[in-house]
Amino acid sequence: MTQRKVPFLDMKSPYLELKAELDAAYQRVMDSGWYILGGEVKAFEQEYAAYCGARHCLGVGNGLEALHLILRGYGIGGGDEVIVPSNTYIATWLAVSYAGARPVPVEPDPHTYNLNPLRVEAAITPQTRAILPVHLYGQPADIDPLMELAGRHNLKVIEDAAQAQGTRYKGRQTGALGHAAGVSFYPGKNLGALGDAGAVLTDDDGLAEKIRMLRNYGSQVKYYNEFKGYNSRLDELQAAFLRAKLPHLEEWNQRRAKIAAYYLEHLAGLPDLTLPFAPEWCSPIWHIFPVLHPRRDELQKYLSGQGVDTLIHYPIPPHLSGAYADMQIPQGSFPLAEHLAACELSLPMGPHLSLEDAAYVVGVIRQFIDSSK
Ligand SMILES: *Cc1c(COP(=O)(O)O)cnc(C)c1O
Repeated sequence: MTQRKVPFLDMKSPYLELKAELDAAYQRVMDSGWYILGGEVKAFEQEYAAYCGARHCLGVGNGLEALHLILRGYGIGGGDEVIVPSNTYIATWLAVSYAGARPVPVEPDPHTYNLNPLRVEAAITPQTRAILPVHLYGQPADIDPLMELAGRHNLKVIEDAAQAQGTRYKGRQTGALGHAAGVSFYPGKNLGALGDAGAVLTDDDGLAEKIRMLRNYGSQVKYYNEFKGYNSRLDELQAAFLRAKLPHLEEWNQRRAKIAAYYLEHLAGLPDLTLPFAPEWCSPIWHIFPVLHPRRDELQKYLSGQGVDTLIHYPIPPHLSGAYADMQIPQGSFPLAEHLAACELSLPMGPHLSLEDAAYVVGVIRQFIDSSK
């Protein structure tokens, strides 16, 4: 095989493909002379709410803030517990900590890597106020049993939909499955802005009103501050860019699905390599294509030597990170999360990755496995 250079995610091609639309969006905002909470944000909120089938969408500063503001909006704070996955990006836990509540980690299902509803039930205490499932890697968490549990225990289900723009669960859009959802439009997400951006989705009128104020200094009318709010607003420029990209999301997700199908077919049956598993009720958007290998670090180094960039999502689970040293959770407490951290490798993936590049990645992985027989 002749050596290629395969990026983990091509960040430039999305701009080149949509240059006319994105440049026009930029020009529109420049010409408007209005940069915060204006017509572009309002229009994007309507368009994204309609796309997800949620009653309300509220643009906020980023995905972490979306989750934090939802918890604040529900009055969840000191003394409260929120159930979170043991294996997630640390933002899920930080949102809970920012609200003053305690993250209670629960292990995932070993096949889907998403929250295991049976384990969630065992973690519910009288202090539990909410469950915060993550649609990890773009695959939906099993929400129906979580909603059933929430109904019985009077809890809120808050989706972390940061990796799931367009993911469907039993035919329904994620982001509109729980009581509220936090979305991130970080540039690397499937629907990415050209800077930081996020949104809250909900059908709850009261929560929507509260978030509208929380994101804007606790005010409905400028300079009349009813409570101590935050500054966490989606800006007009990012909203305009997101409006330009949203109509292409479905097609771009389909292109990712083609790459995923190629990987799944051509990497099947290799010794020691675990491929992602998608139950029949889920339509993943392949934000990440995760594989597991017991000698992950060697595999990553081998791929890198052959020009293939990969990432690890995530090398350290939140409970072992410096940020949560204060919780004093010993190593070995969450073996599934620790196993994923030790063995997970994310292969190149994106709407602008060619099948030729995917074939090259497959070839290099096969070489690695053959050479280590
Ligand atoms: C990206 C991400 C977030 C945070 O989003 P930001 O916009 O970067 O704040 C939260 N949760 C998960 C699972 C993410 O992947």
